[in-house]
Amino acid sequence: MSDIIHLLPDSVANQIAAGEVIQRPASVLKELVENSIDAGATFIQIVIKDAGRTLIQVVDNGKGMSETDARMSFERHATSKIRSADELFSIRTMGFRGEALASIAAVAQVELRTRRAEDELGVLVEVAGTRVFKQESVQCDVGTSFQVKNLFFNVPARRRFLKSDNVEKSHILTEFYRIVLVNPMVNFSFFDGDEEIYNLPASNNKIRIENIFGKNAKKRWQQQLLTIETSTNLVNIYGYVGKPEYAQKSATQYFFVNGRFMRHPYFHKAVLLAYSQMIQASESPNYFIYFEVDPQTIDINIHPTKTEIKFENEQAIWSILTAAIKESLGKFNVVPSIDFDQEGAVDMPTSINIENIRPPQTNFNPNYNPFGISGYKRPNLDWEELYGGFEKKSTSFDSKIDLKSNENENHSTSFTNSKQQPIIGDSETRADNFQYKNRFILTGIKSGLLLIDQQRAHTRILFDLFLNQIENSHGISQQVLFPEILELGVDDDLFFEQILPDLQRIGFDFERLENHSYQVKGVSSHVGTASVIDLLLEILEKTRTTALNPVVGIHESIALTLAQNASIKSGQRLSNEEMSDLIDRLFACANPNLTPDGKKIMTTLSLEELEKRF
Ligand code: ADP
Ligand code: MG
Repeated sequence: MSDIIHLLPDSVANQIAAGEVIQRPASVLKELVENSIDAGATFIQIVIKDAGRTLIQVVDNGKGMSETDARMSFERHATSKIRSADELFSIRTMGFRGEALASIAAVAQVELRTRRAEDELGVLVEVAGTRVFKQESVQCDVGTSFQVKNLFFNVPARRRFLKSDNVEKSHILTEFYRIVLVNPMVNFSFFDGDEEIYNLPASNNKIRIENIFGKNAKKRWQQQLLTIETSTNLVNIYGYVGKPEYAQKSATQYFFVNGRFMRHPYFHKAVLLAYSQMIQASESPNYFIYFEVDPQTIDINIHPTKTEIKFENEQAIWSILTAAIKESLGKFNVVPSIDFDQEGAVDMPTSINIENIRPPQTNFNPNYNPFGISGYKRPNLDWEELYGGFEKKSTSFDSKIDLKSNENENHSTSFTNSKQQPIIGDSETRADNFQYKNRFILTGIKSGLLLIDQQRAHTRILFDLFLNQIENSHGISQQVLFPEILELGVDDDLFFEQILPDLQRIGFDFERLENHSYQVKGVSSHVGTASVIDLLLEILEKTRTTALNPVVGIHESIALTLAQNASIKSGQRLSNEEMSDLIDRLFACANPNLTPDGKKIMTTLSLEELEKRF
């Protein structure tokens, strides 16, 4: 039997390889523009026609190529960027495989014009389907121009595989954004046919972001971006994160490392962690985050079209990232505005007319945060403003304001204690509250009607309280009359031991028995003693899941499970005082808008909206 193995001709081999690197017009654009950046260009012009099907042109003012290099650049594995395998680990350029031009030339008609500063004449090379058709000297500017025409002219199957113009264009723009966002010092001009759709002057990261995404809403982007910056021996992180109130379902999110775009689901979670409790669960913040690390500590030597990058110190960077974002959110005193809905929402008054209203005569520290949660700072809620926001029956403010009563353990022991003194003002200065369906509290504020979900509000209040107790250990214990036994398996017990000190700080009291069992002698005064074993098992299960998938911290998970369990529920009738108390305590929370798990607590109906209906 004769031998059956033979080598594929270059043209075929290149076409097959091209299938991996060049999938659509956007891939061509990416490769060409990255080459221009690598060539040190400061001006890059892009022209596409028919969504890149008939033409993709990239012109740069980079260092250009010699005649030989111009010819060589189309050979597979021809690169000027690395020489040995060692250098793979210290790559600073975008390309390094020397595959892109060979792949593009295998599936399109390519015209290259290039000249170096030191050469008088440039060179023109025409290649199609790997064959060189022309090579001659030409007059041209310093730099390089690539025209890629009729992509997939020789691979009809691939051409048919392309999507509509709009889809292909959006792929092109996606690649374009990924490059221009991390190269703000380069000027870019982008023509779709004859129309210049982007003209991006050299600038800094922030202006670049605004120039791209702020086309019709520049102000919105200027207002929402907070700077983050941190530098450690492991990593430098800088960039911008959006304020929580600008979070949305499909947010604009970019990570870059050492000048290249990357995807990083793990770091994405680190970002979400920093925002936990500030945004709704279904939404996510905008961000543009740039990492600089020693190239030796990342591995980019994976498939060219892949954007996932492996970091050596992922866990440490995770914490650094979360801390950097939290710091910036805290520094800017960012909390969502009281009026949570952006559209058609009413502004809470930002100033009140002092002449008409006497301010409260009290001596409290407005910056004291009874539910202080480590990680973010007290919001910039001015009590006077807040108070001014509520409808008043009288304008005298003689009532005692004692924020510290929040600290008082007993006041919230039983929510039904209606003798409870409200925290802000007394109930006489507040319009009556109204409970609807034993579920929503309606109360008047200056600008309209505030509707509060009672269960969610109380969950938020208790969560802040428990978290504060875990972190500052001052929970009060309530002894159990007939102690129950918590029986655990070996590994549950191992985990339980870890969270035991947290539970004790909240007020739980355990006696360790043999065989991984505990006698529950006391519980938090905020939690009923009924079905305490079930509650503990639920906490155990939830915090274990959290530990595996840390979108929130362990402490938050414990506090949340307890808060959800102990909160007053929908369906529970509340007295007017209880409602006032709930509202007061809600507004004493750092974030009264959302539950810890991101559900909306309140909404307002503006006076304007109401009037429109009549
Ligand atoms: P790689 O970028 O991985 O090196 P490419 O196939 O993309 O491989 O490019 C091959 C070579 O052609 C590059 O290494 C570079 O030397 C040269 N080259 C490509 N584009 C340009 C350009 N715009 N300006 C200068 N040189 C270029
Ligand atoms: Mg390249």
